[in-house]
Amino acid sequence: MDILIKDVTIGNIVTDVLIEGNKIKTIGFVDNNVVHERHIIDGSSMALLPAFYNLHCHAAMCLLRGFCEDLPLMPWLRNIWDKEAELKGEDIYDGTRLAILEMIKSGTVFFADMYWFHEDILRAVENMGIRANIGVTFMDSLGEKKIQNNFSFLNEYSQYDNDLVSFSPAPHAIYTCSGELYRRCCQNALDNNLYLQTHLSETITEVEDCKKLHSGLTPVEYLHSLGVLNNKTIAAHCVHITENDAEILAGRGVIAVHNPCSNMKLSSGVMNFPLMKEKGVKIALGTDGCSSNNNLDMTEEMKLASLLSKVRWNSENSITAKEVFEMATSKGAEFCGVNAGKIREGMLADCILVNLNNERMTPSWDIISNIVYGADSSCIDTVICNGKILMENHYVEGEEEIIAKAKAFVK
Ligand SMILES: [Zn+2]
Repeated sequence: MDILIKDVTIGNIVTDVLIEGNKIKTIGFVDNNVVHERHIIDGSSMALLPAFYNLHCHAAMCLLRGFCEDLPLMPWLRNIWDKEAELKGEDIYDGTRLAILEMIKSGTVFFADMYWFHEDILRAVENMGIRANIGVTFMDSLGEKKIQNNFSFLNEYSQYDNDLVSFSPAPHAIYTCSGELYRRCCQNALDNNLYLQTHLSETITEVEDCKKLHSGLTPVEYLHSLGVLNNKTIAAHCVHITENDAEILAGRGVIAVHNPCSNMKLSSGVMNFPLMKEKGVKIALGTDGCSSNNNLDMTEEMKLASLLSKVRWNSENSITAKEVFEMATSKGAEFCGVNAGKIREGMLADCILVNLNNERMTPSWDIISNIVYGADSSCIDTVICNGKILMENHYVEGEEEIIAKAKAFVK
């Protein structure tokens, strides 16, 4: 059904917005004298903003929220991997639905995921009606049979008939995947016209080990030498980056995903934003998994990204509210090839209605500043993805069942 939002605030103006099918059809006065039925929303106390794009997470890890805390990356990963080995497909389905519920409630309509049991993730994504790039995770330790199965799945699903869903090979990281496995993943991505997701240059240990193993090459130089970096590579973290690394990332058009909360929690370091910006690297925003965050809230991630940069760099070089908002919306959408991320006629209707009567959005000197520095998910009233309402009045249909299932996971 078409959606008509009456008297809504967009920037400094109050107007109507008509969503027809999956697109924003009209911004301006809309006469509601029509024969066919429309869903009408009173937007008089709301602002319409683009929805969020979370470019790196491990959605079903929500099930391990609070399970293992206060350790650095490697010992933390070992604990998590032991626990993850117990998870079954149905757990992943329940965990992914919990994650998507949390994302919808905090205004996110797209996530790039990297986890196990991709068929169950697909089921959860389609059940909830959100956009996703589902990363099929590769590690050498999977063994050749599972690796082959993963490639077969990608070959089969690369033309999957759902506009909201796409897939990608996701070699986990350089310390879990051989150069040969990276090359095979890259070839699969090229053959099937897919993105490729990986973790890259997350910790100093990763950089030092890489230099020792690969004749002094940094992780970015190493992947570049393998020929796997291109404009469809989504590289999470990119914390420890040299000038040459930044030039390579920019030159190859790699999408670097900033995950400030995870980087702080696992003591990984701070992304060199001024250097990346100066060299023209494409930078988006992600939450990482719930074990290293412990939520998937992009409003919180935007604030942390900006504040962390202000702690590390002087104010001229740090991330502004406008910059981080764009990283979380229009940049994320653009980098993933989705014609959304802005409130414009003709663009896909991926948007949120923010409650301007919420105390955190009041007074409204600057809506972007309020949403980045002041808001939390309670300010988000309505979420629309591809022209469909996923949440209204801060309620998602069926949320009680999703929470009950996830609660039962802790016995
Ligand atoms: Zn990650």
